[in-house]
Amino acid sequence: SQSTGTTEPAQSSGTAKPGAAKEVRAEAERRRTFAVISHPDAGKSTLTEALALHAKVISEAGAVHGKAGRKSTVSDWMEMEKARGISVSSTALQFNYTRSDVAGTDDEVVNVVNLVDTPGHSDFSEDTYRVLTAVDAAVMLIDAAKGLEPQTLKLFQVCRHRGIPVVTVINKWDRPGRTPLELLDEIDERIGLMPTPLFWPVGIAGDFRGLLRRGEDGDAAEYIKFTRTAGGAKIAPEEHLSPAEALALEGDTWVEAAEESELLSSNGQDHDQELFLAGQTSPVIFASAMLNFGVRQILDTLVTLAPPPRARLAIDETAREVDDPFSAVVFKVQAGMDTAHRDRLAFMRVVSGVFERGMVVTHAQTGKPFATKYALTVFGRERSTVENAYPGDVVGLVNATALAPGHTLYIDKKVEFPPIPSFAPEHFAILRAESASKYKQFRKAVDQLDSEGVVQILRNDVRGDASPVMAAVGPMQFEVVAARMKAEYNVDPKIEHLGYSLARRTDAASADELNRQRGVEVFTRSDGVLLALVSDKWRLQYILKELPELTLEPLVAAT
Ligand code: GDP
Repeated sequence: SQSTGTTEPAQSSGTAKPGAAKEVRAEAERRRTFAVISHPDAGKSTLTEALALHAKVISEAGAVHGKAGRKSTVSDWMEMEKARGISVSSTALQFNYTRSDVAGTDDEVVNVVNLVDTPGHSDFSEDTYRVLTAVDAAVMLIDAAKGLEPQTLKLFQVCRHRGIPVVTVINKWDRPGRTPLELLDEIDERIGLMPTPLFWPVGIAGDFRGLLRRGEDGDAAEYIKFTRTAGGAKIAPEEHLSPAEALALEGDTWVEAAEESELLSSNGQDHDQELFLAGQTSPVIFASAMLNFGVRQILDTLVTLAPPPRARLAIDETAREVDDPFSAVVFKVQAGMDTAHRDRLAFMRVVSGVFERGMVVTHAQTGKPFATKYALTVFGRERSTVENAYPGDVVGLVNATALAPGHTLYIDKKVEFPPIPSFAPEHFAILRAESASKYKQFRKAVDQLDSEGVVQILRNDVRGDASPVMAAVGPMQFEVVAARMKAEYNVDPKIEHLGYSLARRTDAASADELNRQRGVEVFTRSDGVLLALVSDKWRLQYILKELPELTLEPLVAAT
């Protein structure tokens, strides 16, 4: 099953057919592509399942990620994944969704929602960041008892840098937690994002009765009362009550919710679409992913407020419009998902035009043709063939050896999108060949994994070529390197952790002096950038103070 490099006549030229541009604009307009950003255990898997339940992808929650007793197939692509019971794959779940208030009316729109999954383990990797280059919006999922947690903060910063609008979901409201106002204050104060709740909880955390839907100016528009289902396996039935009915039913609990909602308005915490799209405010929904409370409201909010796919700026600053000929950006490459086939999957996000399986596209970085005979969608253990895709959709291309994150594919009208920025590494390790006889293979493997962006490879004269240093956002990336070198190149490298914890960009003029400092070592990254690795932040502060003439610039988390 080779598709790389084979040339077949193009079967389609994207939007060349009459009426195609209009069709692709309509398809783009009804699409929403987003990712969930959260700290482990906040409930991302549970929410994903709840969303799938509401979109009728599954009929009962508890099926998608119920691991016990299920045959392990494609997603268990590595021994380490099996051993740890985690998923290291990034994938996309696509489903149709019709907003509940327009379903069955003349205004009915069927939206296509792409939920791009981020790796769910606590060891962070660069892949998590890269996923955020492929989405148009993010759901920031927060545990009601824990508030903002470290991984959520890091991912939020990437969203902010990239200008991705964020919808906030406070999860686990069925369990005791903080007060809603406390949680909002934390978001406002710690990250400077103004929370503008669309729905306000009726009942404190641990006594989740329903949601007050806030009207335009913060008044209580209605009360949505939820009923639990057994084990939260089904969509929770909703009753829609007027404020008067709510008062009669819930008494003081309703009064408190209504008063708090008014208080929010007096603070200016009402939804403003322009400020939301500009990343300054964030609509908030209180939910229980486990009980399926508030989940419909999350979907309705995404399709109503989150932006559809839009034009993307190319390197030359021209805009690739959604109805231009086909183009896409590769945002993730994953090898060895299917151990029987040792395949390599490149995930691309369609930027413009129509993707049709079998079309021959151009790989912008090499100028070579690339036949897309094997195109898949992958989610968890499910793989299915994709026949066509539109802007915002995610497609996995099989055996895409030459493709790396940040690469561009296109037809007809040449385009190259800016590369995905490399993120500031925090973990460093020496990589050594097990024996000199295997050095050639070792070198080949290092170059391949470097070009795929699995880790960043650093070298200096002192350490020499045989022991390059790997730099990563999370230590998990080192394990991926070791596992893949073994499986694909038959070399068993030795990995030795290095005692540095941060990297700064430097220059040739500063390098010698830096190398003389304790706890500092200068390397050249494969893209030519000079990096000074520093043991810890106190060391860095000391050097910045004592030797202010040296160049030590922070690496950006994202542009
Ligand atoms: P992830 O690590 O973010 O994917 O989190 P999971 O979805 O695996 O959830 C972590 C734990 O929190 C599991 O035990 C879930 O059952 C639980 N959980 C998730 N959502 C809720 C919720 O809304 N309410 C309660 N009570 N528990 C939840």
